[in-house]
Amino acid sequence: MKITFLGTGTSQGIPIIGSDHPVCLSNDPKDKRLRVSVLVEWDAFTYVVDCGPDFRYQMLRAGVKRIDGIVFTHEHSDHVLGLDDIRPFYFRQGNIPLYAHKRVLKSIKRRFDYFFAKENRYPGAPEVITHRIKNKPFKLKNLEVVPIKGKHFSLQVFGFKFNDFAYLTDMKTVSDKEIEKIKNVKVLVINALRIKPHQSHFNLEEALEFIEKVNPETAYLTHISHLLGFHKEVEESLPKRVFLAYDGLKITV
Ligand SMILES: [Zn+2]
Ligand SMILES: [Zn+2]
Repeated sequence: MKITFLGTGTSQGIPIIGSDHPVCLSNDPKDKRLRVSVLVEWDAFTYVVDCGPDFRYQMLRAGVKRIDGIVFTHEHSDHVLGLDDIRPFYFRQGNIPLYAHKRVLKSIKRRFDYFFAKENRYPGAPEVITHRIKNKPFKLKNLEVVPIKGKHFSLQVFGFKFNDFAYLTDMKTVSDKEIEKIKNVKVLVINALRIKPHQSHFNLEEALEFIEKVNPETAYLTHISHLLGFHKEVEESLPKRVFLAYDGLKITV
């Protein structure tokens, strides 16, 4: 299985528009982060997790020619706003499958109501097939995907385990029962927003505690804000098996 980190930044991305913060002004390409998303590829299949406002550029940058579907963690704008840009895929492939919790699907139907219009459909509007995810394993082609439920302040969000790869973002609390599903996974991705605590995201310390509990072979941090610091400095401070993800990073699991 091949994983490509399409974006590793928090909701505003890095740099933040108009910011003079040193991390926002950094020339290190690893300090430039689009909104979070990963490409997951196995056999002949390609899925994207989340579809934020940078989706179009992420697809161009990674050279993605077709997708088999999009899986959503939750409905915040930094995870769904790029959906209109599925049009090139729709024009070539037809209906695009979307997988999400029923509340997330409801939000997508409200925000992109023209996808679902039955009358007076605008000819360029894409069509999608929605698949509801509950907190139990579901199939993407020949692969069983296991959802991991967590809380993002008071909002329920899903992470996903694809074989030996677990991808969780926008988590603030995850129960021990849910952690059991990903214990000793080979590769774990988890959000780490910044150094100081935050009401709806793990900070660095909480992310490292979470990694201890899960005990993966390797862990990558994502959904990073400028307040975490410079990529190079933060990575040097991390425990041995923990790395900062960066945009364009590819791993094989
Ligand atoms: Zn987010
Ligand atoms: Zn969020």
